[in-house]
Amino acid sequence: MADGVTLKPLSLKRDGDGLTIHWADGVVSHLPFRLLRKQCPCATCNEERQKPPDPFRIITDKDILAASPQPKQMIPRGHYAYQIVWNDGHDTGIYTLEYLRKLGEPA
Ligand SMILES: [Zn+2]
Repeated sequence: MADGVTLKPLSLKRDGDGLTIHWADGVVSHLPFRLLRKQCPCATCNEERQKPPDPFRIITDKDILAASPQPKQMIPRGHYAYQIVWNDGHDTGIYTLEYLRKLGEPA
């Protein structure tokens, strides 16, 4: 398990349909935006993920945008996290470095 010292991104850049992070310990993570958006760590999304899928849900413009999520902005929050502003207007997800690292690891 990576500790706080090695969990430092040397670079973090947009790469095609995802985010590529080069970590100080030599690990490279590629995180597709779709995955990042789906795994948004905010309370609202956590709650959404607990709900059973609704077969009668109407497809909205937001869903269409969500099919190809793009971050509009990544705002550093202290030294340990980034807030991502998505093209669908969602901006309450704060992604800690620890979380980003975990998302990049094979399940
Ligand atoms: Zn969210």
